[in-house]
Order: sequence, then structure tokens, then C-alpha cells
Amino acid sequence: MTTTAAIEAVGLGKKYGRLGKWAVRDCSFRLPQGRICALVGPNGAGKSTLLGQLAGLVRPTEGAVRVMGKGPGEAREHIAFLAQEKPLYPQFTIAETLRMGNELNPGRWDRERAARIVADGGLDLSAKVRELSGGQRTRVALALCLGKQPDLLLLDEPMADLDPLARHQLMGNLLAEAGDSGTTVVISSHILAELEGACDYLLLMENGRVRLGGETDELLSAHALLSGPVAEIGADTTVVESKVTGRHMTALVRREGPIGGDWEVIEPTLEELLLAHMRSPEAPSLLTPSAEPRDLLASTSARTTTGAAA
Ligand code: ADP
Repeated sequence: MTTTAAIEAVGLGKKYGRLGKWAVRDCSFRLPQGRICALVGPNGAGKSTLLGQLAGLVRPTEGAVRVMGKGPGEAREHIAFLAQEKPLYPQFTIAETLRMGNELNPGRWDRERAARIVADGGLDLSAKVRELSGGQRTRVALALCLGKQPDLLLLDEPMADLDPLARHQLMGNLLAEAGDSGTTVVISSHILAELEGACDYLLLMENGRVRLGGETDELLSAHALLSGPVAEIGADTTVVESKVTGRHMTALVRREGPIGGDWEVIEPTLEELLLAHMRSPEAPSLLTPSAEPRDLLASTSARTTTGAAA
């Protein structure tokens, strides 16, 4: 028996305005529960729009999406969403902010957890939100999200305004809290270094689509970096990117079978894998088996879009 996926999307699309361009298009993937997933891709790839769709705040123009087996509008109690703007009341103290969290989430609020996250940053509960630095505000917003005990935590570039030390501390906190509770986390960024080592799942988004999706380890081992004297690469091998420098050549390829020829073969780093795909928009997409949608495809309602708000 398989458990319900944290997220499934099939053919998801969003077009802003009747004449606007597609921000998300033909976007399909599955995210199993309990993963810490990096949502990476260049600016304008559609990451924020996708997160808004998952949170039930952006209505899909087409396609279907399920969060914890429900339409996003119906799954709200399972989801915490930290948008880029981090909406907090500037006049509130931290204590008042956490009290609001308690009142907005009756029966679900974990007071100790929220207080612990705030205390880990050495914050004074009587401090007003408007007096806090960007990093401290992010910490309070995160305490508000995690206090809700969500099954799925969606974070839109949460670390963008933090210095590297604060980023490191907050990521550590976040991962420990999510790990303890089995919360699924999707964290978007256009800075890969921010997420490397912290995430066990990856979605690379570009032009509104998921181009790579799956366990980071599996995606890495599904590729090989070849180097050697310039030569033909076997016709059966999918070449993502190749570069020739003088008589030397390097190529990032899919490991679909034995790699012939006289190459030095190593596994790419995550950065090499992502950059090669971003530089080669024509390379085919790849989802590992766990990232292939299945529940939605099996259900007869796969073609209806449900549950979105405004
Ligand atoms: P990312 O988060 O990856 O930077 P976004 O989802 O913010 O990508 O944007 C994807 C595309 O949709 C961009 O071309 C952006 O300009 C456009 N877009 C985003 N939000 C809106 C909006 N509210 N109205 C019109 N276009 C939008």
C-alpha cells in the first residue's frame, strides 16, 4: 500500500490575465511525504506561482493538484505557507504574534514549539516585530508556521534577506523541527548553495515546468560527467550538455545503460547537474519513479481542477 503523496500535480498551469504569459505550464510531479524538497530554478521560472497554487491562493488555469490527497483549498489546515513578504503585524510584540497563532489555530497550535524556535534565536518576547532585523522576523514567521504543526510547510525564498550565519542557524533549526515531526517541506530558492546538503528531494523548475524531480541522490546517480579526447558519444545515450575545449571534451549524460568509449566517468555535483540542465533547455525532463504522479492519474477526477481559492 502506498501512502498519500504530500503533493501531486498533473498538467498544472497558470496564466496571469487572458493575454498574459504562462507562469506555470504542463507542470507534473509527485512529492512523497516527509521529504525536505528544494524547489530551484532561475528567477521567473514559476516557483512562487506554483507555491501559491499549492497553498490554495492562486487558482490554476488548467490541470489538477492535490495536497495531502485534497484540493489545496480543502487542505489549508494541513499547510503552512511562508510567502516572500512574510506578513506579520509590525505593531505586535513577539508574544502577541504567537498568541495570535494560538487563536488562529485552535486545537492545533504547539505553543512550546513556537516558543522554542523564538528562544533559539535569543529573541525577547516583548520586542515589537517592527524592531526586528530581517532574519529575526523570518524566525518569528517560521515559529508561526511551525507552531501550526503543518503536514506540509511551503517556504518561498525564506532565507533571501539573511546573512550566511543566520541562514545556517535557521536552516538547522528548521530541519531539526521538520525532521522531528515528519513535516514535508518545500523550500524555494534561486541560490542553490542555500539548500545544498539540506534537502533530500529536488524539483528543478524552468519555464513553468518541472525539468528534474526526485531524490537528490537518485538524480545525481542517474547522470554521469564524461571527460576525454573529443569523440562521438554513443547514439543511445542522452546528452544533456557537451562542451569542447581544444581536443578535450566534457559531457553530462544520462546513465541509461553502459557508457561506451574511452571516457573518464564521474558523478556530477548537484551544481553541475542543475547548471547543465539550465543551460540546455532542449534536454528531456527526468522524474525519478517516486516523483511520477500516480494517484491523480488513476483517479477519474484527474481532469478537474478543484479546491483553489481566488
Ligand atoms: P519565480 O518565483 O520562479 O521567480 P514567478 O512565479 O514569480 O517565478 O513568476 C513566473 C512568471 O509569471 C514571471 O514571468 C512573472 O513575471 C509572472 N508573474 C508572476 N506573478 C504575476 C502576476 N501577479 N501577474 C502577472 N504576471 C505574473
